[in-house]
Amino acid sequence: MGMQRESPYPMVSIDEAQRLITAHVAPLGVEAIDVLRDAADGRVLAEDVYSVEPLPDTPKAGVDGYALRSADGDAPRRVIAEVTAGATPGLHVAPGTAVRIMTGAPVPDGADAVIMVEHTEERDGMLMVRHALRPGDNIHTVGQDIAAGQLVLARGTTLGAAEIGLLATVGRVRATVYRRPVVAVLATGDEVYEPDGEVFPGGVRDSNRYALMAAAREAGCVALSLGIARDDVQVQRAAILEALDRADVLLTSGGVSMGTRDLIKPLLAELGTVHFGRIAFKPGKPTTFATIDRPASMRSSPLLAFGLPGYPVSSLVSFEVFVRPALRRLQGDARPDRPRVRVTLRDPIRPSPDRPEYQRAIVTWEDGRLVARSTGRQGSSRLLSMLGANALLIVPAGTELYPAGAELDALMIGPLAPSSL
Ligand code: AMP
Ligand code: MG
Repeated sequence: MGMQRESPYPMVSIDEAQRLITAHVAPLGVEAIDVLRDAADGRVLAEDVYSVEPLPDTPKAGVDGYALRSADGDAPRRVIAEVTAGATPGLHVAPGTAVRIMTGAPVPDGADAVIMVEHTEERDGMLMVRHALRPGDNIHTVGQDIAAGQLVLARGTTLGAAEIGLLATVGRVRATVYRRPVVAVLATGDEVYEPDGEVFPGGVRDSNRYALMAAAREAGCVALSLGIARDDVQVQRAAILEALDRADVLLTSGGVSMGTRDLIKPLLAELGTVHFGRIAFKPGKPTTFATIDRPASMRSSPLLAFGLPGYPVSSLVSFEVFVRPALRRLQGDARPDRPRVRVTLRDPIRPSPDRPEYQRAIVTWEDGRLVARSTGRQGSSRLLSMLGANALLIVPAGTELYPAGAELDALMIGPLAPSSL
């Protein structure tokens, strides 16, 4: 068999590729879980959550001190009782009296303010105040923090510490969340071997499968390894069929270029529908997207198959730009995309003449602006260029150097790095 000179797949733009993917992605099913006890952080809520009761449910003291009537001004008061948090209301504060009260305790009837203990003295059952209060001082009013019937968490929200605290606050122990997608990852290549395997000349340790599995987990998915497939049609077909049986999404690495042993695209075309097989994008031009229908007996949505390039940087950058947003959409995330920001270049940047390029960069906050510095040589086999990168600089195709000080858009793929000196 001779080598093909011309790819049969038309080159699509980045936008078009993203559009084609999104058109085939809908949230997976939902499940009810114990959101407080099943380690639900990272899950996406599949329902709106409202509070039933107001918070606080009754007026409460915001500080330790004395509940009193503001109209009594700065006159001394007789202390008639003490209320602590959790006490049942029932007392009445009449003119000229006060009640010792602790933070979180219900404010007794008649009282309209609480004075901090630090601003008082108590002697022989009498309270002296250092200053007069205004009505409402140091009282948390009913519904001040959460109103009755208020929407506290919207569907599509990713659960983190604050969200889990809110679920507990409103008493929602069980809630429905989206199912985590199962992402099967297959490495291909006769030269590719397990990282703990015997070294051989020309061999390449399989970094892509492990990096992609970690990236899928970081995106909220369950990662499933399909191992390393030799460059053999039979073997690779069997691996894709295994994904069809066991996964929502398949990621393959390698085998999508123009070589005679690049078998993934023809296999995806044989088993399903290839939506694109080439993107005007660097690094990751051969990135391919296909859907494969399941046997009628399975009656679930088609397998989403992404043929990612073999070069380690290309596979991870393509994952970020094309796969990750789809994985977040599958989980119902209302904000599936990474934030896009405007950054100032610290170093000159050379664009690629023919394709928009996503260059790895480290973005920090300096002198009131976001500044990007390069991670060094941007070769698609140099995985070190991904190390520490928290941003992908979006560099339009062109021939003119972007000088230091120029501005470009960037996709934030990690938290802002600490400022350099
Ligand atoms: P391919 O697209 O299969 O021609 O692979 C492109 C380049 O990526 C080759 O140099 C491969 O050796 C390398 N490569 C392919 N798969 C992996 C992998 N799983 N881990 C690291 N490098 C790989
Ligand atoms: Mg290969």
